Amino acid sequence: MADQTNPFLIVQGQLHRAVHQLSLPESVYEWFKEPARVVRVSVPIHRDTGTVETFIGFRSQHTDVVGPTKGGLRFHQNVDEDEVKALSMWMTFKNAVMNLPYGGGKGGIICDPEHLSDRELEELSRGYIRQLAPVMGPEIDIPAPDVNTNPKIMGWMVDEFDKVRGHHTPGFITDKPLVLGGSLGRVEATGRGVQLVTLRALEHLAMEPKGAKVAVQGFGNVGSHAALLLEGSGCKIVAVSDVRGSAYNPDGLDVKAAIKFSEEHGSVKGFPGSREISTDELFALDVDVLIPAALENQLDARRATTVKAKVVAEAANGPTTPGGDEILNEKGVFVIPDILANAGGVTVSYFEWVQNGMGYYWSEEEVDEKLVDAMSKAFNKVYKMREAHNVTMREAAYLVAVSRIAEGAAARGWLHIPSKV
Ligand code: NAD
Repeated sequence: MADQTNPFLIVQGQLHRAVHQLSLPESVYEWFKEPARVVRVSVPIHRDTGTVETFIGFRSQHTDVVGPTKGGLRFHQNVDEDEVKALSMWMTFKNAVMNLPYGGGKGGIICDPEHLSDRELEELSRGYIRQLAPVMGPEIDIPAPDVNTNPKIMGWMVDEFDKVRGHHTPGFITDKPLVLGGSLGRVEATGRGVQLVTLRALEHLAMEPKGAKVAVQGFGNVGSHAALLLEGSGCKIVAVSDVRGSAYNPDGLDVKAAIKFSEEHGSVKGFPGSREISTDELFALDVDVLIPAALENQLDARRATTVKAKVVAEAANGPTTPGGDEILNEKGVFVIPDILANAGGVTVSYFEWVQNGMGYYWSEEEVDEKLVDAMSKAFNKVYKMREAHNVTMREAAYLVAVSRIAEGAAARGWLHIPSKV
């Protein structure tokens, strides 16, 4: 059978499997297999050339059964409705694994930000928020950055939302600039979460972080912070890559210098002392830890057969296809699933939203302490579920997540659960 690469069909399959493993009624699957609301917007902007061009965007709000929806915004030429729907469902399960009082949301605009000036990007970001403002807000749906979006864009968006509402609403969006109510520790939070769960996985495999070899695909917000932090834990980062190229050095890369180089040159390609390798070569490297931190479907069945790593930490959302996953499991690779591995970002986003509600802000140490505790609890819960049901870490994470969603549905009177799920 051909490997499935449609992320929406992949997440539906993951949900269906968990519903059955938990002996929940099929109606639970029927309810949660589709987002509650998907909005499509068309946003015109003035191009610098003087013409008007219209861009298409989406926002998917999967379920508010345990709280408002929450999740990032992606600016990418390959964004489509199925991708956004899938990403919003993964957010629901991620939030549930972390025990956060949120359902999942995700948005995106079909555009290539590399071909937009700063002014055009700002107009597009503001236009998107203006169209969606009626269905967004701190108690409805709370966006954050994702691929090709960042705190600067969140700043424009909060300003636009404030204009529509007529007052400052910092809890409307997270990973904002600090001065607008952002949280300390948010920018590096996803990478920090990846570091923490990777260290736990190594511990379970009785492997030392010191000298453990790591390869990272994707050197953006998540990949670069994960690499830097793991280097700080004693790991040797031997390869990093981005959409333009890669940098490989079997003796280890200086991650801080690679970040600086990439900021200056727009890529890690050509980083002094490294050589270029292909994506296929990166996935096949003789490393201990492999971190896909770019986009979906990168680790397919063909690449999975070549993987030598003992741990795969899914920093990206949906980086492994079902076919790839099957092969990694057969090979005994310890896969830390995306809905656990990259949950540090939304967890600190939750802390930011809480701080916005209080109007009182924590120190970086307080935020980090709470994040370490949350990631550790989630890892333990998933690991315990894995042992109890003799399943993979991914299946275990879905069992934890779907149990919580079903519990929310039952508490609202929509579902009768005879025994505790
Ligand atoms: P980003 O835009 O900061 O970085 C993306 C990186 O991936 C860039 O280095 C880009 O060049 C690289 N890339 C893109 N296509 C590639 C390809 N084909 N091969 C190699 N590299 C490629 O985005 P990000 O925020 O770091 O997000 C990366 C992944 O992590 C996404 O899957 C995103 O959904 C997920 N994620 C992000 C966050 C967050 O807080 N930003 C949280 C959870 C999950």
